[in-house]
Amino acid sequence: MNKVGLIWFRNDLRIHDNAALSQANQECDLLIPLYCFDPRHYAKTHLFGFEKTGFFRAQFLIESIQDLNQSLQSLDSALILRNGNPENIIPALVKEFGVSQIYCHKEITHEEINVENALLKALNNDSKKNCHVQFFEGHTLYQASELPFSIQQIPQVFTQYRNAVEKHSKINAPIPFAGSNLKDLPQGLASEKIPSFQDLNIEEKQVDVRNQMNFAGGETAGLKRLKEYIWDKDLLKTYKQTRNGLLGMDYSSKFSPWLANGCLSPKMIYQEVQKYERERIKNDSTYWLIFELLWRDFFRFTAQKQGNQLFRSNGLQPQKKIKWKTDHDLFLSWSNGETGIPFIDANMKELNATGFMSNRGRQNVASYLTKHLGLDWRMGAEYFESLLIDYDVCSNYGNWAYIAGVGNDPIDRIFNPHKQADQYDSKGKYVEYWLGESIVEKQTSLFD
Ligand SMILES: Cc1cc2nc3c(=O)[nH]c(=O)nc-3n(C[C@H](O)[C@H](O)[C@H](O)COP(=O)(O)OP(=O)(O)OC[C@H]3O[C@@H](n4cnc5c(N)ncnc54)[C@H](O)[C@@H]3O)c2cc1C
Repeated sequence: MNKVGLIWFRNDLRIHDNAALSQANQECDLLIPLYCFDPRHYAKTHLFGFEKTGFFRAQFLIESIQDLNQSLQSLDSALILRNGNPENIIPALVKEFGVSQIYCHKEITHEEINVENALLKALNNDSKKNCHVQFFEGHTLYQASELPFSIQQIPQVFTQYRNAVEKHSKINAPIPFAGSNLKDLPQGLASEKIPSFQDLNIEEKQVDVRNQMNFAGGETAGLKRLKEYIWDKDLLKTYKQTRNGLLGMDYSSKFSPWLANGCLSPKMIYQEVQKYERERIKNDSTYWLIFELLWRDFFRFTAQKQGNQLFRSNGLQPQKKIKWKTDHDLFLSWSNGETGIPFIDANMKELNATGFMSNRGRQNVASYLTKHLGLDWRMGAEYFESLLIDYDVCSNYGNWAYIAGVGNDPIDRIFNPHKQADQYDSKGKYVEYWLGESIVEKQTSLFD
């Protein structure tokens, strides 16, 4: 009898370094590659009611799904799309096509775990109980089992974490795709269509002519950017000097949207950096890109350790008892880029027009929202969740909590946006680009 498998794609929209896909293809005779448009991803954010997935994120995701479908077709298979909750859709496919094994990547935050548990329950309720789910890890440089401590013992401070993993753990090579083709789809299985923005209740946005970013969703574009940034443009060797830039595609790697959707594997990036170090140059810039990816791992493992505490108002510092404001008008002045502080406003205009903002910008607008306006950091985090094409639950909430002073590190840092603008936008080009005016500093009493 044929063994029928199902690979459930989630935030892992790639063929390369995909342990779930490789194993499924080795073990099964017939294989269903599935992606579900889960309506809960298109509802409202948890506390403040923004569109959970806004236009830019949805566009990048849809492009990534189209690209994955093309790659699967080139391997003689196809992506089967469904609109609905995975815990309803998957058991129905299991029944109809006699699936005995489900392969998928594990997620570690609340909403995603709830879906996994609902799926396991639904499969268990099936009287035959002969379908098993196998979870894989594929989002980080290190797997949890490769760390020198258990998740519960992850150090509170990044430097301690980094020193320990650099000393005791090893980053493994990406997993090669096994075979030249994917196993056949079962007969009689058809895909549904990709939903329109309207179907997903997403308000479409016009292309903003100021958008200089070249972000196309999908593994193909992600691998192309990896090659372009590291090899063709040879930008890696100066990453540490340029990474605090603000304008254009090349001051930093811009790998984040592809990483967030799983179109690029961090191990693949690591492998390319190592090759570059062997063949071109090894310096503090080549190290620093990996250093940043270690931060990404750290935020993920910390989220796994802390569970829902990360989403509470006082985050990982419950003893702090900060009384955050939720003033709507104050928030709107921030989100619309109308605070009167040019450096803050320019960054928010960029985010609203493109779905992207530099790391320097993010630190400043997050500090401004929390430290100067005193607004609940989760208003900002949920707003970013809606807009950022690289939204990643762990990096987003981890960084927001950190800047708000309720993250891993209890130290309160305040960014002075005027000083920051002087340092990182000394000629005012960035502000001018997004605000369309030469900067006349609008001092407010906050910074007098
Ligand atoms: C308030 C706030 C919210 C953020 N929200 C997100 C988010 O939702 N998703 C996200 O991927 N990043 C987030 N970041 C981190 C960082 O700003 C982005 O990863 C980075 O700007 C993406 O651009 P890049 O790929 O060119 O980064 P590069 O500078 O080229 O860095 C390479 C990679 O390292 C990782 N990285 C770099 N800095 C960080 C960091 N501080 N934390 C975690 N990983 C990092 C990213 O995966 C990035 O792609 C946030 C930062 C702040 C301050």
